[in-house]
Amino acid sequence: MAVESGLESHGMNRDGFKNDLFFSCGFCGETFELALDRRKCTCGGVLDLNFKDQPFAPDFRQRRPGLARYREALAVEPALLARASLDASPTPLVELAPGLHAKCDFVSPSGSFKDRGQQVLVAVALGLGASRVVIDSSGNSGAACAAHCAKVGLPCTVVVPDHAPMAKLQQSLGYGASVESATGGRAGATALAASLVDEPGTFYASHSENPFFLEGTKAWAFELWEQLGDAPAEVVISLGSGTLFLGAYEGFRYLMRQGYATRIPRMVAVQAQGWAPLVGDLSHGDTAPLADGIAIENPRRRTQIEAAIVASGGEVRVVNNAEINEATQWLRKHGIWVEPTSGAAWAGSQQKSQALDGPVVVSLGGAGFKSGQMA
Ligand SMILES: [Zn+2]
Repeated sequence: MAVESGLESHGMNRDGFKNDLFFSCGFCGETFELALDRRKCTCGGVLDLNFKDQPFAPDFRQRRPGLARYREALAVEPALLARASLDASPTPLVELAPGLHAKCDFVSPSGSFKDRGQQVLVAVALGLGASRVVIDSSGNSGAACAAHCAKVGLPCTVVVPDHAPMAKLQQSLGYGASVESATGGRAGATALAASLVDEPGTFYASHSENPFFLEGTKAWAFELWEQLGDAPAEVVISLGSGTLFLGAYEGFRYLMRQGYATRIPRMVAVQAQGWAPLVGDLSHGDTAPLADGIAIENPRRRTQIEAAIVASGGEVRVVNNAEINEATQWLRKHGIWVEPTSGAAWAGSQQKSQALDGPVVVSLGGAGFKSGQMA
């Protein structure tokens, strides 16, 4: 997370990154230098980024679209971002009902919102001199990582849980990645990936652990601010690991800190019934998740997610499979071909609990072509 660190001369000076950048543990406060094998704190806690961000340059709107457009707010320098870019940013914003907008990340190069974050992770892998990238993913993040590795020519291994949709595996294979299937669900995939990342020169591109991923999803907020002229009143995001949710929140906080936006949106997280750890409902049993992209039992950044919901006046909404089906079909009848995980977000937006006081933006983060389901 970008904070006013006050530690401008922390001793790091590595090409491609902000000079004052360092890792810190959100749990115990320990700090670490940037390094290829520094994946978590010695206490097991998840790491955050610290660096001193700057205001956007006065002429930043003259820059071409893309993450490097927002370079002053991001930890990674523009040349590295450009090398890994497949031009995932910006994505369209479509008003589907009065005041209700869809942020159409499903049109991203690999078909999901994961592209911005994986562009940053692959840029970081290049900057740290990695020779190989390993990722564990239920599908979309692996495909996004494989796509950006293909762009820069880095070998990529995607470890998937055995319930992952076949269409998503085929996509990673098509980009040239090797795919390994793990038993034991999402946790099994994470365990297998952990056994692979100790090989020297390996970069672990975990979207749920690596804080650089959130540098990419911060740009989701910057794009909305440019598209709407201010931050929206509310954003509605289906939440598994919460990496879009947290990156967006950090992006909105930057915009407020710099005086560019007049508000931080209410951050609304949508979870699927039976797979909703934020409300203590993990009653799914043996049922395969319809919204497979958010079937996460224990989000690594749960404390940060809950803090963002409280601080922004947001909430958690839970949707069932019937609501997810209905929302996904409604979107398709309106020309929007998304996967059920995105249908879940749209279903959550239909449970609105208060009168609109400004635009509401719903993340439609994954293309329907690769879900392998008719919902
Ligand atoms: Zn720690």
